[in-house]
Amino acid sequence: MLLQISTTHQPATDLGFLLAKNPSRVQKFELSFGAAQVFYPLANEEKCTLALLLEVDPVALVRGKGRETGPLAQYVNDRPYVASSFLSVAIAQVLRSALNGVCKERSEIAASEIPLEIQIEGAPCREETARELFEPLGYEIEVEKFALDSRLPAWGEAPFVRLQLRATKKLSEALSHLYVLLPVMDDEKHYYIGEEEVEKLLRRGTGWLEVHPAQNFIVSRYLKRQKRLVFAALEKLAPEVEAEEVRDVEEEKIEAEVTPKAAPLHQIRIETVLEVLKSSGARRVLDLGCGEGRLLRELLKDKQFEEILGLDASHRALEIASDKLKLERMPDLKREKIKLIHGALTYRDDRLRGYDAAALVEVIEHLDAPRLKAFERAIFEFARPATVVVTTPNRDYNVKWESLPAGTLRHRDHRFEWSRDEFESWAGKVAADYSYELEVSALGPLDEELGAPSQMGVFRRKL
Ligand code: SAH
Repeated sequence: MLLQISTTHQPATDLGFLLAKNPSRVQKFELSFGAAQVFYPLANEEKCTLALLLEVDPVALVRGKGRETGPLAQYVNDRPYVASSFLSVAIAQVLRSALNGVCKERSEIAASEIPLEIQIEGAPCREETARELFEPLGYEIEVEKFALDSRLPAWGEAPFVRLQLRATKKLSEALSHLYVLLPVMDDEKHYYIGEEEVEKLLRRGTGWLEVHPAQNFIVSRYLKRQKRLVFAALEKLAPEVEAEEVRDVEEEKIEAEVTPKAAPLHQIRIETVLEVLKSSGARRVLDLGCGEGRLLRELLKDKQFEEILGLDASHRALEIASDKLKLERMPDLKREKIKLIHGALTYRDDRLRGYDAAALVEVIEHLDAPRLKAFERAIFEFARPATVVVTTPNRDYNVKWESLPAGTLRHRDHRFEWSRDEFESWAGKVAADYSYELEVSALGPLDEELGAPSQMGVFRRKL
Protein backbone atom coordinates (compact mmCIF):
# COMPACT_ATOMS: atom_id res chain seq x y z
CA MET A 1 0.00 0.00 0.00
CA LEU A 2 1.53 3.25 -1.01
CA LEU A 3 0.37 6.78 -0.32
CA GLN A 4 2.30 9.77 -1.62
CA ILE A 5 1.75 13.36 -0.60
CA SER A 6 3.45 16.19 -2.47
CA THR A 7 3.48 19.94 -2.35
CA THR A 8 4.89 22.67 -4.52
CA HIS A 9 4.45 25.25 -1.78
CA GLN A 10 7.85 26.88 -1.44
CA PRO A 11 10.19 26.01 0.07
CA ALA A 12 8.65 22.61 -0.60
CA THR A 13 10.88 20.88 1.93
CA ASP A 14 8.76 22.51 4.65
CA LEU A 15 6.58 19.47 4.08
CA GLY A 16 9.06 17.65 6.28
CA PHE A 17 8.20 19.98 9.17
CA LEU A 18 4.47 19.76 8.49
CA LEU A 19 4.53 15.98 8.56
CA ALA A 20 7.10 15.91 11.33
CA LYS A 21 9.27 13.56 9.30
CA ASN A 22 12.81 14.43 8.32
CA PRO A 23 13.25 14.30 4.51
CA SER A 24 16.78 12.96 4.75
CA ARG A 25 15.93 9.74 6.57
CA VAL A 26 13.91 6.60 6.03
CA GLN A 27 11.85 5.85 9.12
CA LYS A 28 10.18 2.63 10.10
CA PHE A 29 7.16 2.15 12.35
CA GLU A 30 5.76 -1.07 13.75
CA LEU A 31 1.99 -1.24 13.73
CA SER A 32 -0.22 -3.99 15.08
CA PHE A 33 -1.01 -5.26 11.60
CA GLY A 34 2.31 -4.73 9.85
CA ALA A 35 5.02 -2.17 9.26
CA ALA A 36 5.04 1.34 7.83
CA GLN A 37 7.95 3.15 6.26
CA VAL A 38 8.16 6.84 5.57
CA PHE A 39 10.60 8.27 3.08
CA TYR A 40 10.91 11.07 0.54
CA PRO A 41 11.33 10.03 -3.10
CA LEU A 42 11.69 13.72 -3.93
CA ALA A 43 12.76 16.64 -1.76
CA ASN A 44 13.90 19.92 -3.22
CA GLU A 45 12.88 23.57 -2.95
CA GLU A 46 10.29 23.27 -5.76
CA LYS A 47 8.63 20.02 -4.96
CA CYS A 48 8.67 17.61 -2.09
CA THR A 49 7.00 14.19 -1.89
CA LEU A 50 6.49 12.05 1.16
CA ALA A 51 5.77 8.36 0.66
CA LEU A 52 4.05 6.22 3.25
CA LEU A 53 4.57 2.58 2.41
CA LEU A 54 2.52 0.15 4.41
CA GLU A 55 3.21 -3.54 4.48
CA VAL A 56 0.35 -5.41 6.01
CA ASP A 57 1.16 -8.81 7.33
CA PRO A 58 -1.79 -11.05 6.40
CA VAL A 59 -0.69 -13.79 8.73
CA ALA A 60 -0.55 -11.43 11.69
CA LEU A 61 -4.04 -10.25 10.75
CA VAL A 62 -5.52 -13.70 10.73
CA ARG A 63 -3.85 -14.56 14.01
CA GLY A 64 -4.93 -11.29 15.59
CA LYS A 65 -7.61 -11.31 18.26
CA GLY A 66 -11.19 -11.29 17.11
CA ARG A 67 -10.19 -11.91 13.55
CA GLU A 68 -10.86 -15.64 13.53
CA THR A 69 -13.89 -15.25 11.34
CA GLY A 70 -14.95 -12.85 8.66
CA PRO A 71 -13.28 -11.60 5.54
CA LEU A 72 -9.78 -11.82 6.94
CA ALA A 73 -9.96 -15.44 7.94
CA GLN A 74 -7.80 -16.56 5.11
CA TYR A 75 -4.12 -16.21 4.64
CA VAL A 76 -4.46 -15.14 1.07
CA ASN A 77 -6.45 -11.95 0.80
CA ASP A 78 -6.21 -8.55 -0.83
CA ARG A 79 -5.50 -6.67 2.39
CA PRO A 80 -1.78 -6.18 1.82
CA TYR A 81 -2.38 -4.48 -1.50
CA VAL A 82 -5.42 -2.25 -1.43
CA ALA A 83 -5.59 1.10 0.27
CA SER A 84 -7.99 0.47 3.10
CA SER A 85 -8.74 1.28 6.69
CA PHE A 86 -5.24 0.07 7.53
CA LEU A 87 -3.86 3.04 5.67
CA SER A 88 -6.15 5.30 7.71
CA VAL A 89 -4.85 3.79 10.90
CA ALA A 90 -1.31 4.30 9.65
CA ILE A 91 -2.08 7.97 8.90
CA ALA A 92 -3.48 8.43 12.40
CA GLN A 93 -0.49 6.79 14.01
CA VAL A 94 2.44 7.80 11.85
CA LEU A 95 1.26 11.27 10.76
CA ARG A 96 -0.76 12.08 13.86
CA SER A 97 0.39 15.65 14.49
CA ALA A 98 -0.13 16.61 10.83
CA LEU A 99 -3.61 15.07 10.89
CA ASN A 100 -4.37 17.21 13.93
CA GLY A 101 -2.99 20.31 12.24
CA VAL A 102 -0.24 20.70 14.80
CA CYS A 103 3.23 21.88 13.75
CA LYS A 104 5.43 23.79 16.14
CA GLU A 105 8.09 24.81 13.64
CA ARG A 106 5.80 25.95 10.85
CA SER A 107 2.47 26.65 12.54
CA GLU A 108 1.51 29.35 10.02
CA ILE A 109 1.88 26.95 7.09
CA ALA A 110 0.01 24.22 8.92
CA ALA A 111 -2.83 26.72 9.27
CA SER A 112 -2.80 27.81 5.64
CA GLU A 113 -3.85 26.25 2.41
CA ILE A 114 -1.06 24.88 0.29
CA PRO A 115 -1.08 23.13 -3.10
CA LEU A 116 -1.25 19.40 -2.49
CA GLU A 117 -1.03 16.37 -4.70
CA ILE A 118 -1.96 13.03 -3.30
CA GLN A 119 -1.44 9.71 -5.00
CA ILE A 120 -2.93 6.49 -3.77
CA GLU A 121 -1.93 3.18 -5.29
CA GLY A 122 -4.55 0.48 -5.26
CA ALA A 123 -7.57 2.57 -4.32
CA PRO A 124 -10.24 -0.11 -4.17
CA CYS A 125 -13.04 1.66 -5.96
CA ARG A 126 -14.50 2.62 -9.28
CA GLU A 127 -13.77 5.98 -10.87
CA GLU A 128 -17.33 7.25 -10.30
CA THR A 129 -17.16 6.48 -6.60
CA ALA A 130 -13.85 8.30 -6.27
CA ARG A 131 -15.37 11.30 -8.01
CA GLU A 132 -18.49 11.29 -5.85
CA LEU A 133 -16.36 11.22 -2.73
CA PHE A 134 -13.62 13.70 -3.53
CA GLU A 135 -14.96 16.18 -6.08
CA PRO A 136 -17.44 17.90 -3.74
CA LEU A 137 -14.47 18.60 -1.48
CA GLY A 138 -12.80 20.55 -4.25
CA TYR A 139 -10.28 17.99 -5.50
CA GLU A 140 -9.27 17.59 -9.10
CA ILE A 141 -9.13 13.90 -9.80
CA GLU A 142 -7.20 11.67 -12.11
CA VAL A 143 -7.89 7.98 -12.22
CA GLU A 144 -5.71 5.38 -13.84
CA LYS A 145 -7.26 1.99 -14.42
CA PHE A 146 -5.48 -1.31 -14.82
CA ALA A 147 -6.22 -4.63 -16.44
CA LEU A 148 -6.72 -7.41 -13.97
CA ASP A 149 -4.00 -9.27 -15.82
CA SER A 150 -2.23 -7.41 -18.60
CA ARG A 151 -1.65 -10.67 -20.49
CA LEU A 152 -5.32 -11.59 -20.36
CA PRO A 153 -7.31 -8.50 -21.35
CA ALA A 154 -10.50 -10.55 -21.51
CA TRP A 155 -10.42 -10.72 -17.73
CA GLY A 156 -11.32 -7.07 -17.70
CA GLU A 157 -10.38 -4.31 -15.30
CA ALA A 158 -8.85 -4.70 -11.91
CA PRO A 159 -11.11 -3.74 -9.00
CA PHE A 160 -8.74 -0.98 -7.95
CA VAL A 161 -7.27 2.17 -9.48
CA ARG A 162 -4.41 4.59 -9.07
CA LEU A 163 -5.94 7.76 -7.74
CA GLN A 164 -4.46 11.22 -7.97
CA LEU A 165 -6.03 14.10 -6.08
CA ARG A 166 -5.04 17.73 -6.47
CA ALA A 167 -6.25 20.65 -4.39
CA THR A 168 -5.15 23.66 -2.42
CA LYS A 169 -5.95 22.86 1.17
CA LYS A 170 -4.64 22.70 4.66
CA LEU A 171 -2.65 19.51 5.04
CA SER A 172 -4.67 18.51 8.11
CA GLU A 173 -7.86 18.90 6.11
CA ALA A 174 -6.64 16.68 3.29
CA LEU A 175 -5.42 14.05 5.75
CA SER A 176 -8.81 14.08 7.48
CA HIS A 177 -10.51 13.52 4.12
CA LEU A 178 -8.24 10.54 3.47
CA TYR A 179 -8.67 9.21 6.97
CA VAL A 180 -12.43 9.00 6.52
CA LEU A 181 -12.71 8.25 2.83
CA LEU A 182 -10.08 5.51 2.41
CA PRO A 183 -12.11 2.96 4.38
CA VAL A 184 -15.25 4.22 2.64
CA MET A 185 -13.77 3.45 -0.77
CA ASP A 186 -12.88 -0.01 0.42
CA ASP A 187 -16.25 -1.57 1.02
CA GLU A 188 -15.04 -4.29 3.27
CA LYS A 189 -18.22 -5.90 4.52
CA HIS A 190 -19.53 -6.10 8.03
CA TYR A 191 -17.38 -6.70 11.00
CA TYR A 192 -17.91 -5.49 14.48
CA ILE A 193 -17.06 -1.90 15.26
CA GLY A 194 -17.97 0.12 18.32
CA GLU A 195 -19.34 3.47 19.36
CA GLU A 196 -15.90 5.02 19.29
CA GLU A 197 -15.96 4.78 15.50
CA VAL A 198 -18.88 7.23 15.43
CA GLU A 199 -16.89 9.67 17.49
CA LYS A 200 -13.85 9.30 15.23
CA LEU A 201 -15.95 9.82 12.14
CA LEU A 202 -17.55 12.98 13.55
CA ARG A 203 -14.24 14.37 14.72
CA ARG A 204 -12.45 13.84 11.43
CA GLY A 205 -15.52 14.81 9.42
CA THR A 206 -15.92 18.19 11.11
CA GLY A 207 -16.30 21.02 8.66
CA TRP A 208 -17.03 18.96 5.56
CA LEU A 209 -19.00 15.80 6.20
CA GLU A 210 -21.98 17.81 7.44
CA VAL A 211 -22.65 19.05 3.94
CA HIS A 212 -21.10 16.37 1.77
CA PRO A 213 -23.66 15.34 -0.86
CA ALA A 214 -22.68 11.69 -0.37
CA GLN A 215 -23.00 11.96 3.41
CA ASN A 216 -25.34 8.98 3.80
CA PHE A 217 -23.15 6.77 1.69
CA ILE A 218 -19.99 7.80 3.55
CA VAL A 219 -21.48 7.35 7.00
CA SER A 220 -23.08 4.06 6.16
CA ARG A 221 -19.93 2.55 4.69
CA TYR A 222 -17.60 3.98 7.30
CA LEU A 223 -19.73 2.49 10.04
CA LYS A 224 -19.98 -0.82 8.21
CA ARG A 225 -23.71 -0.43 7.73
CA GLN A 226 -24.46 -0.92 11.42
CA LYS A 227 -27.81 0.77 11.57
CA ARG A 228 -27.70 1.99 15.13
CA LEU A 229 -24.31 3.63 14.66
CA VAL A 230 -25.25 5.04 11.27
CA PHE A 231 -28.38 6.70 12.67
CA ALA A 232 -26.52 8.07 15.67
CA ALA A 233 -23.92 9.63 13.39
CA LEU A 234 -26.40 11.05 10.90
CA GLU A 235 -28.42 12.60 13.66
CA LYS A 236 -25.39 14.33 15.12
CA LEU A 237 -24.11 15.40 11.74
CA ALA A 238 -27.12 17.18 10.44
CA PRO A 239 -29.63 18.12 13.10
CA GLU A 240 -29.94 21.52 11.54
CA VAL A 241 -30.33 20.43 7.97
CA GLU A 242 -32.83 17.79 8.94
CA ALA A 243 -34.87 20.28 10.86
CA GLU A 244 -34.91 22.42 7.75
CA GLU A 245 -36.00 19.51 5.64
CA VAL A 246 -38.86 18.62 7.89
CA ARG A 247 -40.06 22.17 7.88
CA ASP A 248 -42.58 22.78 5.21
CA VAL A 249 -41.54 25.42 2.78
CA GLU A 250 -45.19 26.28 2.37
CA GLU A 251 -44.74 28.06 5.67
CA GLU A 252 -43.14 30.86 3.76
CA LYS A 253 -46.68 31.70 2.77
CA ILE A 254 -47.51 32.53 6.36
CA GLU A 255 -45.26 35.52 5.97
CA ALA A 256 -47.34 36.61 3.04
CA GLU A 257 -50.45 36.37 5.21
CA VAL A 258 -49.20 38.51 8.06
CA THR A 259 -47.38 40.98 5.86
CA PRO A 260 -49.67 43.60 4.39
CA LYS A 261 -48.89 43.91 0.71
CA ALA A 262 -46.22 41.29 1.24
CA ALA A 263 -45.80 40.52 -2.40
CA PRO A 264 -44.81 44.07 -3.37
CA LEU A 265 -42.46 44.27 -0.36
CA HIS A 266 -40.72 41.10 -1.42
CA GLN A 267 -40.59 42.45 -4.93
CA ILE A 268 -38.87 45.59 -3.62
CA ARG A 269 -36.29 43.48 -1.81
CA ILE A 270 -35.56 41.38 -4.87
CA GLU A 271 -35.28 44.40 -7.15
CA THR A 272 -33.04 46.27 -4.74
CA VAL A 273 -30.72 43.33 -4.22
CA LEU A 274 -30.61 42.74 -7.97
CA GLU A 275 -29.59 46.35 -8.48
CA VAL A 276 -26.78 46.06 -5.91
CA LEU A 277 -25.50 42.89 -7.57
CA LYS A 278 -25.62 44.48 -11.01
CA SER A 279 -23.78 47.60 -10.01
CA SER A 280 -21.11 45.56 -8.20
CA GLY A 281 -20.08 44.26 -11.62
CA ALA A 282 -20.48 40.66 -10.47
CA ARG A 283 -20.65 37.92 -13.09
CA ARG A 284 -20.63 34.85 -10.88
CA VAL A 285 -23.21 35.08 -8.12
CA LEU A 286 -24.49 33.07 -5.20
CA ASP A 287 -28.05 33.12 -3.92
CA LEU A 288 -27.70 31.63 -0.46
CA GLY A 289 -30.93 30.39 1.08
CA CYS A 290 -32.45 30.78 -2.38
CA GLY A 291 -35.80 29.35 -1.28
CA GLU A 292 -38.20 28.98 -4.16
CA GLY A 293 -35.96 30.95 -6.45
CA ARG A 294 -37.48 34.43 -6.68
CA LEU A 295 -34.11 36.12 -7.01
CA LEU A 296 -32.72 33.33 -9.18
CA ARG A 297 -35.45 34.01 -11.75
CA GLU A 298 -34.36 37.64 -12.06
CA LEU A 299 -30.66 36.75 -12.15
CA LEU A 300 -31.30 34.34 -15.00
CA LYS A 301 -32.95 37.04 -17.08
CA ASP A 302 -29.91 39.27 -16.92
CA LYS A 303 -27.00 38.62 -19.29
CA GLN A 304 -24.48 40.18 -16.91
CA PHE A 305 -24.72 37.10 -14.68
CA GLU A 306 -22.82 34.24 -16.26
CA GLU A 307 -22.82 31.76 -13.45
CA ILE A 308 -25.50 31.46 -10.82
CA LEU A 309 -25.51 29.12 -7.86
CA GLY A 310 -28.57 28.74 -5.65
CA LEU A 311 -28.10 27.00 -2.32
CA ASP A 312 -30.69 26.00 0.22
CA ALA A 313 -30.91 23.67 3.18
CA SER A 314 -34.38 22.56 2.20
CA HIS A 315 -34.65 19.90 -0.51
CA ARG A 316 -38.27 20.80 -0.90
CA ALA A 317 -37.48 24.47 -1.58
CA LEU A 318 -34.94 23.42 -4.20
CA GLU A 319 -37.49 21.20 -5.91
CA ILE A 320 -40.00 24.01 -6.00
CA ALA A 321 -37.34 26.38 -7.33
CA SER A 322 -36.40 23.90 -10.04
CA ASP A 323 -40.06 23.53 -11.05
CA LYS A 324 -40.80 27.24 -10.99
CA LEU A 325 -37.72 28.05 -13.04
CA LYS A 326 -38.65 25.22 -15.41
CA LEU A 327 -35.04 24.04 -15.37
CA GLU A 328 -35.94 20.80 -17.13
CA ARG A 329 -37.24 22.55 -20.17
CA MET A 330 -34.68 25.34 -20.29
CA PRO A 331 -32.50 25.66 -23.40
CA ASP A 332 -29.02 24.22 -22.80
CA LEU A 333 -27.12 27.50 -22.92
CA LYS A 334 -29.25 29.07 -20.25
CA ARG A 335 -29.44 25.88 -18.24
CA GLU A 336 -25.66 25.70 -18.01
CA LYS A 337 -25.55 29.04 -16.24
CA ILE A 338 -27.40 27.88 -13.17
CA LYS A 339 -26.86 25.26 -10.51
CA LEU A 340 -29.01 24.47 -7.50
CA ILE A 341 -27.34 22.74 -4.61
CA HIS A 342 -28.29 21.47 -1.20
CA GLY A 343 -26.18 22.72 1.65
CA ALA A 344 -26.08 24.51 4.97
CA LEU A 345 -24.75 28.00 5.42
CA THR A 346 -23.23 27.30 8.77
CA TYR A 347 -20.56 25.08 7.29
CA ARG A 348 -17.60 25.91 5.10
CA ASP A 349 -18.29 24.72 1.61
CA ASP A 350 -15.74 24.57 -1.17
CA ARG A 351 -18.49 24.85 -3.75
CA LEU A 352 -19.12 28.46 -2.67
CA ARG A 353 -15.64 29.71 -3.34
CA GLY A 354 -14.58 31.82 -6.29
CA TYR A 355 -17.84 33.79 -6.73
CA ASP A 356 -17.98 37.56 -7.14
CA ALA A 357 -21.03 38.21 -5.01
CA ALA A 358 -23.49 36.56 -2.66
CA ALA A 359 -27.07 37.48 -1.79
CA LEU A 360 -28.85 36.41 1.38
CA VAL A 361 -32.40 37.66 1.09
CA GLU A 362 -34.31 37.19 4.34
CA VAL A 363 -32.20 34.23 5.38
CA ILE A 364 -30.03 35.04 8.40
CA GLU A 365 -33.02 35.32 10.71
CA HIS A 366 -33.61 31.60 10.02
CA LEU A 367 -30.25 30.66 11.54
CA ASP A 368 -29.95 29.81 15.20
CA ALA A 369 -28.25 32.73 16.91
CA PRO A 370 -25.44 30.55 18.36
CA ARG A 371 -24.65 29.38 14.81
CA LEU A 372 -24.22 32.90 13.42
CA LYS A 373 -20.51 32.90 14.09
CA ALA A 374 -20.09 29.69 12.06
CA PHE A 375 -22.13 31.27 9.28
CA GLU A 376 -19.99 34.42 9.32
CA ARG A 377 -16.82 32.41 9.00
CA ALA A 378 -18.19 30.15 6.26
CA ILE A 379 -19.24 33.13 4.14
CA PHE A 380 -17.04 36.10 5.01
CA GLU A 381 -13.85 34.25 5.76
CA PHE A 382 -14.00 31.08 3.68
CA ALA A 383 -16.18 31.72 0.60
CA ARG A 384 -15.25 35.42 0.76
CA PRO A 385 -16.97 36.94 -2.28
CA ALA A 386 -16.17 40.58 -3.08
CA THR A 387 -19.76 41.65 -2.39
CA VAL A 388 -22.25 40.24 0.11
CA VAL A 389 -25.81 41.56 0.33
CA VAL A 390 -27.84 40.66 3.39
CA THR A 391 -31.47 41.59 4.01
CA THR A 392 -33.44 40.89 7.17
CA PRO A 393 -36.65 42.14 8.78
CA ASN A 394 -36.55 45.29 10.88
CA ARG A 395 -38.21 44.43 14.19
CA ASP A 396 -38.84 48.11 15.02
CA TYR A 397 -41.38 48.09 12.24
CA ASN A 398 -43.39 45.16 13.63
CA VAL A 399 -45.70 47.40 15.68
CA LYS A 400 -47.13 48.61 12.37
CA TRP A 401 -48.28 45.09 11.52
CA GLU A 402 -51.81 45.17 12.85
CA SER A 403 -52.32 41.47 12.34
CA LEU A 404 -49.12 40.62 14.20
CA PRO A 405 -49.64 40.14 17.93
CA ALA A 406 -47.22 42.25 19.97
CA GLY A 407 -43.90 40.58 20.68
CA THR A 408 -44.28 37.85 18.05
CA LEU A 409 -42.11 37.35 15.03
CA ARG A 410 -43.30 37.60 11.46
CA HIS A 411 -42.66 34.01 10.64
CA ARG A 412 -42.75 30.74 12.57
CA ASP A 413 -39.27 29.79 11.48
CA HIS A 414 -37.61 33.10 12.32
CA ARG A 415 -35.17 32.52 15.15
CA PHE A 416 -34.83 36.24 15.80
CA GLU A 417 -35.69 39.59 14.30
CA TRP A 418 -33.35 42.48 14.80
CA SER A 419 -34.07 46.12 15.49
CA ARG A 420 -32.16 48.58 13.31
CA ASP A 421 -29.58 49.04 16.05
CA GLU A 422 -29.08 45.34 16.54
CA PHE A 423 -28.62 44.73 12.82
CA GLU A 424 -26.19 47.61 12.48
CA SER A 425 -24.13 46.49 15.38
CA TRP A 426 -23.94 42.88 14.08
CA ALA A 427 -23.14 44.00 10.54
CA GLY A 428 -20.56 46.52 11.75
CA LYS A 429 -18.75 43.87 13.71
CA VAL A 430 -18.78 41.42 10.80
CA ALA A 431 -17.40 44.11 8.47
CA ALA A 432 -14.62 44.95 10.92
CA ASP A 433 -13.77 41.32 11.71
CA TYR A 434 -13.53 40.18 8.11
CA SER A 435 -12.30 43.37 6.52
CA TYR A 436 -15.29 44.53 4.51
CA GLU A 437 -16.77 48.03 3.99
CA LEU A 438 -20.38 48.24 5.09
CA GLU A 439 -23.37 50.22 3.91
CA VAL A 440 -26.69 49.76 5.71
CA SER A 441 -29.98 50.97 4.28
CA ALA A 442 -33.71 50.69 4.77
CA LEU A 443 -35.73 48.49 2.48
CA GLY A 444 -39.37 49.20 1.69
CA PRO A 445 -41.74 52.10 2.40
CA LEU A 446 -40.16 54.30 5.05
CA ASP A 447 -41.82 55.28 8.33
CA GLU A 448 -40.09 58.28 9.87
CA GLU A 449 -39.89 56.80 13.30
CA LEU A 450 -39.78 53.07 12.71
CA GLY A 451 -37.76 52.84 9.53
CA ALA A 452 -38.75 50.42 6.76
CA PRO A 453 -40.09 46.85 7.09
CA SER A 454 -36.78 45.35 5.95
CA GLN A 455 -33.17 46.40 6.20
CA MET A 456 -30.18 45.69 4.03
CA GLY A 457 -26.44 45.53 4.58
CA VAL A 458 -24.07 45.66 1.62
CA PHE A 459 -20.59 44.37 2.43
CA ARG A 460 -17.75 45.19 0.03
CA ARG A 461 -14.50 43.35 0.51
CA LYS A 462 -11.50 45.57 1.14
CA LEU A 463 -8.50 44.64 -0.97
N1 SAH B 1 -34.09 34.03 -0.24
C1 SAH B 1 -35.42 33.47 -0.50
C2 SAH B 1 -35.97 32.62 0.63
C3 SAH B 1 -36.01 33.22 2.00
S1 SAH B 1 -36.70 32.12 3.18
C4 SAH B 1 -36.37 34.60 -0.85
O1 SAH B 1 -36.05 35.74 -0.62
O2 SAH B 1 -37.42 34.31 -1.35
C5 SAH B 1 -35.24 31.49 3.99
C6 SAH B 1 -34.60 30.33 3.26
O3 SAH B 1 -33.39 30.04 3.92
C7 SAH B 1 -35.44 29.06 3.29
O4 SAH B 1 -35.59 28.57 1.98
C8 SAH B 1 -34.62 28.12 4.14
O5 SAH B 1 -34.74 26.77 3.74
C9 SAH B 1 -33.22 28.65 3.97
N2 SAH B 1 -32.35 28.31 5.09
C10 SAH B 1 -32.60 28.38 6.40
N3 SAH B 1 -31.55 27.99 7.13
C11 SAH B 1 -30.58 27.66 6.23
C12 SAH B 1 -29.25 27.19 6.36
N4 SAH B 1 -28.69 26.97 7.55
N5 SAH B 1 -28.55 26.96 5.24
C13 SAH B 1 -29.11 27.18 4.03
N6 SAH B 1 -30.35 27.62 3.86
C14 SAH B 1 -31.09 27.87 4.94
